[in-house]
Amino acid sequence: MSRPTQIIIDLPAIRHNCQIAARLAPHAQVVAMVKADAYGHGATQVAKALEPQVAKFGVCCIEEAQTLRQAGVNKPIVLIEGCFSAEEYQLAAQINCELLIHTEQQISQLLASKSAFRFTIWLKLDTGMHRLGIDIEKTAAVVQALQASNKIEKLILTSHFASADELNGSFTSQQMFRFEQVVSKLKALNAGAFDISLANSAAVLAWPQSHQDWIRPGIMLYGISPFSDHQQQADELVPVMHFCSKVIALREVKQGEYVGYGNTWQAKRSSVIATIAAGYGDGYPRTAPSGTPVLIKGHRAELAGRVSMDMLSVDVTDLTAVEIGDHVELWGAALDVNEVARFAGTNGYELVTRMPPRAKRFYL
Ligand SMILES: *Cc1c(COP(=O)(O)O)cnc(C)c1O
Repeated sequence: MSRPTQIIIDLPAIRHNCQIAARLAPHAQVVAMVKADAYGHGATQVAKALEPQVAKFGVCCIEEAQTLRQAGVNKPIVLIEGCFSAEEYQLAAQINCELLIHTEQQISQLLASKSAFRFTIWLKLDTGMHRLGIDIEKTAAVVQALQASNKIEKLILTSHFASADELNGSFTSQQMFRFEQVVSKLKALNAGAFDISLANSAAVLAWPQSHQDWIRPGIMLYGISPFSDHQQQADELVPVMHFCSKVIALREVKQGEYVGYGNTWQAKRSSVIATIAAGYGDGYPRTAPSGTPVLIKGHRAELAGRVSMDMLSVDVTDLTAVEIGDHVELWGAALDVNEVARFAGTNGYELVTRMPPRAKRFYL
């Protein structure tokens, strides 16, 4: 038998989670965000599974779009940071990408490009996140320049929320208010037709007034709540990634003895320690401290000592009849990746996205 560390990806669960997004925003169309190899789940498999039920896909760069095209994905693909150089416009046209534009330099490059292709352009406005986007004061001039050019098939005005996961905060409303002011101004100027796209997963789940024409769910497709604490809006999501391994060694450790690198865990009593074949080389976070939950045959136990590259240790003293070969869940159906992430000082997004290639993926 080979090393038992596995990542099982439940594609029917992705389809189910996508249906939830579509049901919550019945008047919007879905752009499924599959950037960063579909948040570590495998962009090709995920996009193929979702293609019949979404309108478009969102990726970070043209290389990610090329991977999808080579795999036979045909729906439009939005490059959510746009082109990075003047040469990329031609290629983006060839593989039927839609372009986000967030700087005036990108507008100049688009207008100067030789290609006769008419792009669907996602014009990003900076409504307060201050990461990407055109100054809202400049929007009218930019929209007029784009609409007057012969490079545009369709215009979608877009912005991104900084804290849609904070349900009691006012910042999301403030961003929507700034956006609406721009929209009113454009309408008053008769600046031509455009669609609107604002919502990421948290906004799909919790800010219905943000749904507009195009929603852009990412993390919720993977069955992970975007909220840091429990919110019932996310209750119907089904986890997609199951990170599993097995017990490969068992030993008794006397009171006062240590476990693992640096002797950071000391037995307060005579203990039973199970060694699991998964470590930070497989994507388990090294920052997870002693006490982080691990499921052994479905029962909770606690991580003991530092996570190694290929292994981790679990205190199974209080579990009965643990044996070599027992099934271990590091996160998945019965252990929320967000809970492990909280222990490790990060969020579920990061844990699933940073899974290395060594951890083999199996698709259901
Ligand atoms: C990643 C991303 C999303 C999806 O965000 P989630 O929080 O994962 O739903 C939406 N829009 C843009 C522009 C993104 O970069």
